[in-house]
Amino acid sequence: MNRRDFLRVAAFGAAMAATPISSISAFGEPTKPLKPSGKLNLSFEPYELKLRHAFNLAKNQRTTTPGVQVQIEYDGVVGYGEASMPPYLGESVDSVCKFLSQTDLAQFSDPFRIEDIHEYLETVAPNNRAAKASVDIALHDLVGKIMGQPWYKIWGLNPANTPNTSYTISYQSDPAEMQHEVDECKPFKIIKVKMGVGHDKELVEIFRKHYDTPICVDANQGWSDKHHALDMCKWLADNGCVFVEQPMPKEQFEDIAWVRERSPLPLIADESLQRLSDVRRMADAFDGINIKLMKSTGMHEAYQMAVLARAMGMKVMLGCMTETSCAVTAAAQLSPMVDWADLDGNLLIANDRFDGIKIIDGKVTIPDRPGIGVELL
Ligand code: MG
Repeated sequence: MNRRDFLRVAAFGAAMAATPISSISAFGEPTKPLKPSGKLNLSFEPYELKLRHAFNLAKNQRTTTPGVQVQIEYDGVVGYGEASMPPYLGESVDSVCKFLSQTDLAQFSDPFRIEDIHEYLETVAPNNRAAKASVDIALHDLVGKIMGQPWYKIWGLNPANTPNTSYTISYQSDPAEMQHEVDECKPFKIIKVKMGVGHDKELVEIFRKHYDTPICVDANQGWSDKHHALDMCKWLADNGCVFVEQPMPKEQFEDIAWVRERSPLPLIADESLQRLSDVRRMADAFDGINIKLMKSTGMHEAYQMAVLARAMGMKVMLGCMTETSCAVTAAAQLSPMVDWADLDGNLLIANDRFDGIKIIDGKVTIPDRPGIGVELL
């Protein structure tokens, strides 16, 4: 057995606490008891994501997203992760690099101690969710590679159950640019329409001239009046919309609950929630939640959020930021257990570094590779 095979077998044994490690072997050979032989080595570098189209959101416009690429190396195996920091989340290249500089993963000699490592990350600094997600994703990639399995298998999920992903369009004042955005929707089975910027109905009407594809709407907190929000929900229900995401500012929780009682469409929380501890409260104003790795501190808590929301009878949506295929493919590992996916972040950037998730006939397709399923391009 070579060194890599030994590592895989030994580490798999470590994950199975009830099984004597000495009895485990992939080849029918007795294995030696596991002795941690390495340290976790964390490295990182800033990486600016260049957007293929300007993002016109309710509260700003932008053409790039700051990011940080992360690696964790353990005995020659490398796990990849990333942080993506859209400005409204309050993190930056500086804050993520500062957090990662203060993070001492070398104190851990067992990458399978994901729970312990998360507990430690909470002690480094509060918040910093994208920074924590970058470590979590790289750690999951590393552990999956050591086990030789992708995370959807480790979680026991069926890759045939992945949903269609939505593809996002936003209003463009230039007609040629608007037409280009509409043209790119063709392969997708559901389209996400960004609203709250003043051309809401016009955008749907332009789209409807070309396609009758179902749409979902993300108002990005853009409607401040509850009566207007309800009118929009009713109008959208008549125009082939499936659900409305974050219709109003998160501070207007009571108003959102008022709209939800009267809306013909389900309401999904995005900006209103971040982590596992937020999920229960969302049931008072929303029908479902949008989980994103950059909010949830990564895959570990994202999985727990999906389990809790489903147990509460809520819908689950899986989203992403503008990210490379690294973080988007990591999220895709969870996609067989969600109702809707919005995993187009890698398609919206021009400088992806990874091969990973594929959208085939509109459907999320998880690569058959261990870990989070990516390879460097
Ligand atoms: Mg959203």
